[in-house]
Amino acid sequence: MKRILVTGGAGFLGSHLCRRLLTEGHDVLCVDNFYTGTKNNILPLLSNPHFEILRHNITEPLKVEVDEIYNLASPASPVHYQNRPVQTTITNVHGSINVLDLAVRLGKVKVFQASTSEVYGDPAIHPQVEDYWGNVNPIGPRACYDEGKRCAETLFFDYWRQYELPIKVARIFNTYGPNMCLNDGRVVSNFIVQALKGEPITIYGDGSQTRSFCYVDDLIEGFIRMMATDRDMTGPINLGNPNEITIKQLAQKIIAMTGAKSQLICKSLPADDPKQRKPDITKAKHVLNWVPKISIEDGLTKTIHYFEKILEMSTVT
Ligand code: NAD
Ligand code: UDP
Repeated sequence: MKRILVTGGAGFLGSHLCRRLLTEGHDVLCVDNFYTGTKNNILPLLSNPHFEILRHNITEPLKVEVDEIYNLASPASPVHYQNRPVQTTITNVHGSINVLDLAVRLGKVKVFQASTSEVYGDPAIHPQVEDYWGNVNPIGPRACYDEGKRCAETLFFDYWRQYELPIKVARIFNTYGPNMCLNDGRVVSNFIVQALKGEPITIYGDGSQTRSFCYVDDLIEGFIRMMATDRDMTGPINLGNPNEITIKQLAQKIIAMTGAKSQLICKSLPADDPKQRKPDITKAKHVLNWVPKISIEDGLTKTIHYFEKILEMSTVT
């Protein structure tokens, strides 16, 4: 049994990770400032004596005693990270420094970084492999997140080089599932909520851009396997589902699965929106013996049920 810190533990991915770690018998300390995360996400965990929650902004130093750290604290939806872009960069850069310093102070405990496919920017090679250096506009509206995460990776690798800190850098591709917020702003939650409300489905651009969507349980399995690797396995490793679809196909799938009468409407494409994205997961297969198992149909079914429940509750209260 370990004491494990999850920063951003009240968010979408963090809440699933906390639950999984508790299931495995660990003590979990969830640290969150509730910028995009919610107490509802961790409500079912609060009665577990092995679960603790600390309201804290990781841009401030943190002194706690743990055996392992997962660093997930950062807004992830373009809407939210662009809403407070300066804080996004500060969270990813200063937040990472605080987490890395903590890991060193604790005697060089393993520290996992939730990095992102956005480090590849609008990729010029397809699918994306880990040794691709990326194509990021450093002064565009996505840069606070993309460059923040890139600088965080630099810091993680420098702490490994300079202090021999055992780091685990995962590059996460688009992931979806229960515990996304109604107002998350990312495409899967937007489309499902719009479909369930019978509202128009908002396609940005012509919908020909692609993404590859991973169900959350598959991703969390990848996190656990990566943390369990030897101290010298630093990553980066891509974690995502290579099943690529266009945004228009995603909208049509969600309409068919919900039986919605929603129309598709086109809105303008946000600046620097990546045209295509698909992970090459050869490395994850070899190093972690990991492949995603949940089909988009099964994952969307679970996610649609979740949002049906949430919408029902929000109309009752
Ligand atoms: P999320 O927005 O649901 O969760 C992020 C959590 O971090 C929230 O609970 C938020 O309140 C917290 N947080 C933000 N700033 C903080 C700060 N300064 N101090 C403390 N807590 C703070 O997003 P998510 O989808 O769960 O993403 C989790 C992590 O995974 C993020 O680092 C994100 O960049 C990364 N990631 C996610 C995806 C994805 O598809 N879900 C893809 C790539 C990378
Ligand atoms: N998108 C869309 N409609 C929405 C939200 C997003 O068409 O209501 C598009 C967005 O422009 C992007 C893709 O869906 O091309 C994925 O967007 P998301 O915000 O989920 O994540 P990203 O991969 O861009 O970070």
